Order: sequence, then C-alpha cells, then structure tokens
Amino acid sequence: MSTDAHDKAGWPGAVRNAFRVAAVLALGAVTGLCAVRGQVQPAVWQLDPQLCIQCGRCATECVLAPSAVKCVHAFDLCGYCDLCGGYLQPQVTEFTTAAEHQLCPTGAIVRRFVEEPYFEYTIIEELCVGCGRCVKGCNAFGNSSLHLQVRHDRCVNCNECAIARRCPAKAYRRVPAGRPYLIKGRETTAEPDGQTR
Ligand code: SF4
Ligand code: SF4
Ligand code: SF4
Repeated sequence: MSTDAHDKAGWPGAVRNAFRVAAVLALGAVTGLCAVRGQVQPAVWQLDPQLCIQCGRCATECVLAPSAVKCVHAFDLCGYCDLCGGYLQPQVTEFTTAAEHQLCPTGAIVRRFVEEPYFEYTIIEELCVGCGRCVKGCNAFGNSSLHLQVRHDRCVNCNECAIARRCPAKAYRRVPAGRPYLIKGRETTAEPDGQTR
C-alpha cells in the first residue's frame, strides 16, 4: 500500500479525511461559528417566527429562568386594532386595560390609545416570559405582528440550545452574530425596535 493511501498511524486516506471533516464541524459547533458567503463568522441561536407554532416550549425549555425568548412587535405589520387578539382575552366584550381582560399572564403588554380607532401595543421585556400566547392570539387575527425572538442581551448562546432540541417546528437555527434577529416583515436585523425595557 502506498504512503498516499495510509498516514503514519496507518489510517487509510479516506478515513483520515472523514475525521478531519468531523473535527472541523465539531469545532464550528463548539465555538458557535457559521459560514456566511464563504466566511466563517461568530453565530448565535435564533428562531424563525415563520416556522414557530407557539407550542409554549420557548418559555419552559430555556436554561435561563425566565427564558431568553421574548415577544417582539413588528409595528410595520400591526393593524393597531382596538380589538387586539394579542392583548385581549378572546371572549371579552369590553376592550379595556382591566387585568381580567388581558391575555398576557404577566401583564407584559402595554396598550396605548393613538387616535380613534387605533391603539399601539408594546412589550415590557422584563415581564415577558416568552409563552407565545399573545403571538397565537395575534396570528388568529391575521396580522401576525407579535412574534417571539431570542433576545441576545440575555441569551448565553449555549453550544446546543435546549429549546432548539425540543422545538417541534424545528424553528431554531444558527444566524450571524452581527445580524442576530429574524424580525417579521424584514430581513435579519441588528436589533428589534419598539420594545419597552
Ligand atoms: S419551541 Fe419552537 S414552536 Fe415552540 S414556541 Fe419555541 S420556536 Fe415556537
Ligand atoms: S403573552 Fe407571553 S409572550 Fe406575550 S408578552 Fe405576555 S408573557 Fe410575553
Ligand atoms: S441558547 Fe441557551 S440561553 Fe439561549 S435561548 Fe437557547 S437555551 Fe436559552
């Protein structure tokens, strides 16, 4: 057998190459890297809101408590509705800010009158637990402007995201750290807007 086909340890070339590929892939996974246009860049976890089915696991499976996943609002897509499916319990007949009328279990959504008949809704991230109830309610009305995102001022960028492992919609993927958000209605972006902290 030629020296091309075997290395000093006696491994055939094809096997040796397979080990090299596996080692590079493992390094990428461990250090959180991803290839973008031929370059290797730092990467972080993000969920694709177009794939998310609001199963609730973003709230319960994160290694952090409360979760690093929060609701964000794409104001470009919002109808500024008085009857907001993301804010109000489905059966309410009065559209007010009374606690018993609100869908959010933590009171994390602020409703503000803009002008007749429009209302603006913003998220208090410190109160949001990422349960996705408001997202489901908003989706039911068709606007789908409320959605979930991993917030990178909180996420510790685990090598293997615990939520990604359990996500039934396979909505999680690695994205470039410099453009870490998948905001509805836009391409990747550096930061969501309109959040209340
Ligand atoms: S685990 Fe997946 S499907 Fe469930 S809420 Fe999170 S992103 Fe959506
Ligand atoms: S309903 Fe859930 S996801 Fe929506 S703002 Fe409240 S805590 Fe956050
Ligand atoms: S990478 Fe870790 S901290 Fe970030 S969302 Fe996933 S489980 Fe939570």
